[in-house]
Amino acid sequence: MVRNHQHEWRPLDDQQPIFEDGAVVFYEECNFVEVHGSYHSERLDEVFYDEGEQCDETRTIRLDLVRFEGEVEKEFEDNVNGYIIHHSDEIEDEIETALLKIEYAMRENKGEVLEIDPHDRVIVEYEGIRAVYER
Ligand SMILES: [Zn+2]
Repeated sequence: MVRNHQHEWRPLDDQQPIFEDGAVVFYEECNFVEVHGSYHSERLDEVFYDEGEQCDETRTIRLDLVRFEGEVEKEFEDNVNGYIIHHSDEIEDEIETALLKIEYAMRENKGEVLEIDPHDRVIVEYEGIRAVYER
C-alpha cells in the first residue's frame, strides 16, 4: 500500500474525454510516487530519488449537458435539460437528434472543441449545434 497522500490527479495518457449519454467524462489517474529518500551525486550534479510504490487510483470527472446554443438555440430556448423535464415529443426529438449528432461528431473527431476544462465547462460544436456541458 502506498502511504496516505494527496492524490496528484493528471489526465490519463491518450485518453480523450468520452461524450455519451448527455455527458462528457474525463479519466484521470494519480501520479503520486512514494519517495523513500534521495541523494545528490557530486559527479553528475544531479539528485536521485529512491522511489517506492506508485499510487494507481483513477477517477472520472463528469460534466452534464446543460444547454444547446448556436443555430438551434431558438428551437431549444427554455428547454434547458429538455430531455429530463417533460416537453412536447417534437422538441424532445429535436434535442435527442442534436445530442446524437454532437456525440457522433465527438467520437469521430469531427466536432470542434471551443472550450475544454474538466473542472468547469466544456463547449463543443458541430454543424451549427453548440453543446454546453457543466459540472
Ligand atoms: Zn494517489
